[in-house]
Amino acid sequence: MSGKLNKIWSNRASILEGIKNSAFKDEHVEQIATERLAICIACPDLDIEGSECMVPGTHPCCGQCGCSLKFKLRSLSSSCGNEEEPRWNALLTQEEEDSFINEIKKPNQNGDNIQSS
Ligand code: SF4
Repeated sequence: MSGKLNKIWSNRASILEGIKNSAFKDEHVEQIATERLAICIACPDLDIEGSECMVPGTHPCCGQCGCSLKFKLRSLSSSCGNEEEPRWNALLTQEEEDSFINEIKKPNQNGDNIQSS
């Protein structure tokens, strides 16, 4: 398995959480994703064309790890793909993120979910 595949595999739980967050678009997660995107846009490793994407057609991607930014930026337990000189850090552990996701999925007093659409 290539180095990138190994990275994807080791980060799979984080990436899945990012996918969930992308679908549910919690307001706080979106704010964090916006702040991270501003850093990635200025990063020389940003792959806009998708030549470094692990999964074709998922650009823009991080040229370091090959992850789609759409998902990576929303995964609170993910960190910058540059492991040697990370430009942004994970905000939660995987366990903390799991709890957070469960919390935003809980129905409120009206029976609605807290998360936005
Ligand atoms: S995740 Fe890090 S290395 Fe990848 S594009 Fe964003 S700032 Fe650059």
